[in-house]
Amino acid sequence: MELLDASIVPEHARDRKLAARAFAAEEIEPVAADYHASGAYPWDVLEAAMDAGFVAQHISPEYGGRGDGLAELLAIAEEFFRVDAGIALTIQLAGFGCDILEQYGTDEQKRRCLRPVAETDQLSGLAVSEPETGSNLAGMSTEARKVDGGYRLSGEKYWVGNAVEADWLTVYAKTGDREDRYSNYSVFIVETDREGYHAEHVPEKIGMRASKQGHIVLEDCFVPETNLVGTEGGGFYMLAEFFNKGRVVVGGHGLGLAAAAIEEAESFVDTREAFGRTVSAFQAVQHTIADMRLRFESARALVWRACRKVEAGENPGYWAALAKTHATETAVFCAERSMQLHGGRSVFADRRISRVYRDARIPVIYEGANEIQRDLIFRQRP
Ligand SMILES: Cc1cc2nc3c(=O)[nH]c(=O)nc-3n(C[C@H](O)[C@H](O)[C@H](O)COP(=O)(O)OP(=O)(O)OC[C@H]3O[C@@H](n4cnc5c(N)ncnc54)[C@H](O)[C@@H]3O)c2cc1C
Repeated sequence: MELLDASIVPEHARDRKLAARAFAAEEIEPVAADYHASGAYPWDVLEAAMDAGFVAQHISPEYGGRGDGLAELLAIAEEFFRVDAGIALTIQLAGFGCDILEQYGTDEQKRRCLRPVAETDQLSGLAVSEPETGSNLAGMSTEARKVDGGYRLSGEKYWVGNAVEADWLTVYAKTGDREDRYSNYSVFIVETDREGYHAEHVPEKIGMRASKQGHIVLEDCFVPETNLVGTEGGGFYMLAEFFNKGRVVVGGHGLGLAAAAIEEAESFVDTREAFGRTVSAFQAVQHTIADMRLRFESARALVWRACRKVEAGENPGYWAALAKTHATETAVFCAERSMQLHGGRSVFADRRISRVYRDARIPVIYEGANEIQRDLIFRQRP
């Protein structure tokens, strides 16, 4: 049975799913291993994805996008991450942070910044994490000091997708020192050609090598008042809402990776022989495959349920955290089990399973490490 079958996907998102599958097979799969090996930025695949309508299309038609909803984004993520997580992340992050602007920005900001991303003339990004602080959203130290006509930003951001490549970023910075530390942060549009903005790539990674993250240094970087998104002090809450949708999509990252690991395991054990029979004839191997499928199917049911809950606004933080945690840990489990079933061949660098194994280590960390998700699950449990 096909792992990422369409029956669980709402009908309105199925065409996008099929188109994503075809795009992944034609444009991502043939070059995935080469980009993983070289660690180069996959500009040609990104441009093809722009032409095919897969970049930043969650932006509403009013500002040039298609208005893809959460179900469409999740369906696309499953398909792309199944084929290659590094390239998939690059395609997804080309419009990262735009949701925050769409929801809280002014019409002028949306015309100036959202439209060029939706029309694929520009790339965006979201800069939250810092070299010394990643998990603690209310503990970030980059400051935005109010000055005449705007703000001056100082501090460092780390791990930021497209920090080097993007045209502008939504940057999360401290604007207050209130006792209620959740009210101390704001979000700003920062164009990457501003004076005082410096970015370089972080060191080479072991996984998702075709996606690029950067280290940003902001040195008294001036942005006008018109670059403040929403209200001053509202940044923490804007991000929390943004992450609810994002984490469901990261659930899709996990499902795509888990599906790839299972596919590789099943095809390997059906052809490899040991002790005069195929490896898949051993009951212990069959149980391992069964365990992988058990986790995969339960994670997929949970992620799609969470998608409906988040779309309906029903305790979204709880459902998003459940989905992200279970699906990304399922990917790690399936990748690890699949490696074991591949025996010595698991460690050949050019094997798809070794790429999946490395890539699967990442979604358990980004958009909030899974320990933080467990905190959210406990605190927000109904
Ligand atoms: C490939 C990649 C892409 C990324 N893209 C972006 C991006 O585009 N923009 C952006 O802003 N950030 C991005 N990130 C950053 C990512 O969100 C952070 O790495 C993540 O939030 C964890 O922060 P940290 O790495 O500083 O870990 P830390 O906060 O230092 O935590 C380290 C570990 O300590 C443990 N830990 C921490 N806090 C707790 C706690 N409260 N309870 C229990 N255990 C805890 C966990 O095991 C955690 O993994 C990206 C990261 C990666 C790897």
